[in-house]
Amino acid sequence: MSPTPGHVNEHRNVDPAEIARFEAAASRWWDPQGEMRPLHDLNPVRLQYVERAGSLAGLKVLDVGCGGGLLAEAMARKGALVTGLDLADDLLQVAKLHALEAGVEVNYVLEAAEVHAAAHPGEYDVVTCMEMLEHVPDPTSVIDALGRLVQPDGHVFVSTLNRTMKAYALAILGAEYVLRLLPTGTHTYEKFIRPSELKQWSRAAGLTVIDIAGLDYDPFTRQARLTMDASVNYLVHLRRERPTASA
Ligand code: SAH
Repeated sequence: MSPTPGHVNEHRNVDPAEIARFEAAASRWWDPQGEMRPLHDLNPVRLQYVERAGSLAGLKVLDVGCGGGLLAEAMARKGALVTGLDLADDLLQVAKLHALEAGVEVNYVLEAAEVHAAAHPGEYDVVTCMEMLEHVPDPTSVIDALGRLVQPDGHVFVSTLNRTMKAYALAILGAEYVLRLLPTGTHTYEKFIRPSELKQWSRAAGLTVIDIAGLDYDPFTRQARLTMDASVNYLVHLRRERPTASA
């Protein structure tokens, strides 16, 4: 199914070429051997990191840029009440169908984070945004929306790629050109984000940085694990500040 003409362009902070690139993989999204294989391999570790917020059972969780629903569904299986947002209609169709077949309930919505934040401020206990910021024209605007979507004291989890030579070598040269693990053009080096930048944008969005963890992935053994080295993939745990009581 193709998106409503113009829908994706209605919102400024989206690159239609990025959406088209991800939609091209829609039918193979849930294939653990397909081009989303790294996301499949990273998913259990990401879920484990999100559970730093505590048990997800009964929590209202928003997954921004959910794609075909790998993390959204995993969180729903843990008992969370999950809403998944994405601007790729084809991916949301795949996500809906998969959830239906798996008997897992997830609410999938075709909407930008900024638009959702205007209608649902402070509505979520936990907000996640994985592997999306490096595909968006203005990531600061997304971080700002994440800060508005989560309730005071609520948790935000973000993952992205660091802008280092090592990330360039592994995530672009290695994964796209040598191993052909990802389609060529999946990642653009200039859009990678340094932890220092993410920290600064988060603080500006009223989010406190609780933790940064490296996410190490070995494409040969397909093992993923958390490390202290954030030089390639990394995860960030943020919490919304509670407004200080004023007289
Ligand atoms: N978060 C998922 C998918 C990552 S792939 C996971 O980690 O498993 C990147 C996703 O971001 C794609 O689904 C793509 O459609 C989505 N995306 C890219 N730009 C977006 C935007 N501006 N708003 C919402 N989603 C976007």
